[in-house]
Amino acid sequence: MNTLEKIVSLCKRRGFVYPGSEIYGGLANSWDYGPYGTELKKNIKALWWQHFVQSRADIYGLDGSILLSPKVWKASGHIKRFLDPLKECLSCHKRFRTDFLDEKGIKKCPECGGKLSKEKMFNPMFKTFIGSQENKASTVYLRPETAQAIFINFKNIIDSFHPPLPFGIAQIGKSFRNEITAGNFIFRTLEFEQMEIEYFIEEKEWQKQFDYWQREMIEFAKSLGISEKKLTLREHSLKELSHYSKKTVDIEYMFPFGTKELYGLAYRTDYDLKNHSQKSGVDLRYQNPKTKENFYPHVIEPSFGLERTLLALLLDAYHKETAKEKKRVFLKFPPLVAPIKVAVFPLLANKIELIKEAKRIFADLSPHFPIAWDDNGNIGKRYRRQDEIGTPWCVTVDFDTLKDNTVTVRDRDTMKQERVKINNLLNLFKEKLENSKD
Ligand code: ATP
Repeated sequence: MNTLEKIVSLCKRRGFVYPGSEIYGGLANSWDYGPYGTELKKNIKALWWQHFVQSRADIYGLDGSILLSPKVWKASGHIKRFLDPLKECLSCHKRFRTDFLDEKGIKKCPECGGKLSKEKMFNPMFKTFIGSQENKASTVYLRPETAQAIFINFKNIIDSFHPPLPFGIAQIGKSFRNEITAGNFIFRTLEFEQMEIEYFIEEKEWQKQFDYWQREMIEFAKSLGISEKKLTLREHSLKELSHYSKKTVDIEYMFPFGTKELYGLAYRTDYDLKNHSQKSGVDLRYQNPKTKENFYPHVIEPSFGLERTLLALLLDAYHKETAKEKKRVFLKFPPLVAPIKVAVFPLLANKIELIKEAKRIFADLSPHFPIAWDDNGNIGKRYRRQDEIGTPWCVTVDFDTLKDNTVTVRDRDTMKQERVKINNLLNLFKEKLENSKD
């Protein structure tokens, strides 16, 4: 098994990520998140929100609708120009992304060996209908990016908060793309979450702001524990640039299936605000409070994919130790990211005094962090189970606990154990979590 296959298997076995619609044979490029995958996603989103929204005075949060007026997508250029190049097999009629075929030097259908068509352009926006009639007039699109909800609320934020330039609007939410592609687990899926900022600036500042945001994006990835060594920057060629962008840099990560986009940073100019102003008839210009001059702010867009972040974290966290007495697989998540922070074990599952004490500890800690309970099998096995889900610390209640109110605290990475007073546990874990930020 290669590393990705090992991670896919661990994710399924231990409750991180399950194949979508599995009991019906699956639905390609869709995945469901189990208890630990859900916690991980929540942690990443909370850390992102903390970093970019809560800890800054110049960025405003938003939660826009998934369904927007189709006029939005017309004005933004997505209906005409948001296109993926594809080739279709003339025998089995399966479709493949041209970049996937080119990357692998494939000239014939990878499924049946049939002849491939010329390149065709395909719009990956999902369509659905509002109301009881299914026709052109009732067609709406599931958003393929969160950004547009931000542009169409630009005036609302200005009117409510009167922010001076530069300022940003941030949003986390689901986006949908009808992706025609080969797997790679959660790297490319039909629905995914984006964490995006539209940062509004004066045109003359764009290069400085672009460089600043590029550094910020890398800093954020590092703060989560993503390995800097695996990150590279790649600027889009003119041919590759999206219809709205003047400059785009991908922050790429060395995935096991190739070095590919983790995050994207784009200079969207004043393209979106200008188009929405012209098409809606609503003036979306910003007024300089001193000179009273009206102008369209330019935009720098840092865009982060949640699932790709999760995949990079899983890949960086995956460790295997083969030494006889230490044989184990463990996920070395930074404690702030780990889905469970502490696991609590009574040494024996049938000793009521031990269970009572362990339950008390569970109740004391659980209002503060996600805690696991495990009383199944011997302690060694329980440690291995927690290692596999990346729990940084385990607490064991044993017979000495009943005498001296101490417990064993075991560290995931060093496997070292220490005795700690029950009364000190909460502070100890709070401190350890706080220290792990550095
Ligand atoms: P790619 O070139 O891989 O198709 P993209 O350039 O179309 O990606 P963007 O439009 O820049 O992607 O979207 C911003 C971010 O959203 C990406 O950096 C990525 O993290 C995430 N993303 C985009 N499409 C998907 C998808 N189908 N599945 C999961 N994440 C995605």
